[in-house]
Amino acid sequence: MTLTKKMMTKQLEYLIIHCTATPIGRIVTKEDIVAWHTDPKPRGRGWSKAGYSDMIDIDGKLVNITPFDQDDDKEAWEVTNGVRGINGVAHHIVYVGGCDARMQPMDTRTPVQKGALGIYLKYAVLRWPNIKIAGHNYFDAGKACPSFDVAQWCRAIGLSENNIL
Ligand SMILES: [Zn+2]
Repeated sequence: MTLTKKMMTKQLEYLIIHCTATPIGRIVTKEDIVAWHTDPKPRGRGWSKAGYSDMIDIDGKLVNITPFDQDDDKEAWEVTNGVRGINGVAHHIVYVGGCDARMQPMDTRTPVQKGALGIYLKYAVLRWPNIKIAGHNYFDAGKACPSFDVAQWCRAIGLSENNIL
């Protein structure tokens, strides 16, 4: 690694969980998310990249949205736009759902989504032993995202306190 590259990369610190904030039962695809985030305003948000590295769809399937590698550095090409201000040190995962039929926050995770998310978090901890897992709402108190208590759920599935923000 060149010195220049080393100076530009940052150590990955957080794994942040999001929801798509869509009503229970609605199918959302990778293409939907990329369009919402990167289409020019007012159709989309006009971001340069999508907000997440991976998503867990309504069937519990893991879908990659933005490529990333295995190491502890977050390089520019891996960065996603999930939470302004910390994206350079964060990895973002989203599950599809998070609202009830009237668009109020609700933990809509199905058993297969919970199963997939649990495996995802446990594998992430193996890969990045010092990572701290958090919900989007830890960094933005005005948001309900991801519509469940991340710390409580991480404890319930047996993750170490070291990996819970
Ligand atoms: Zn979010």
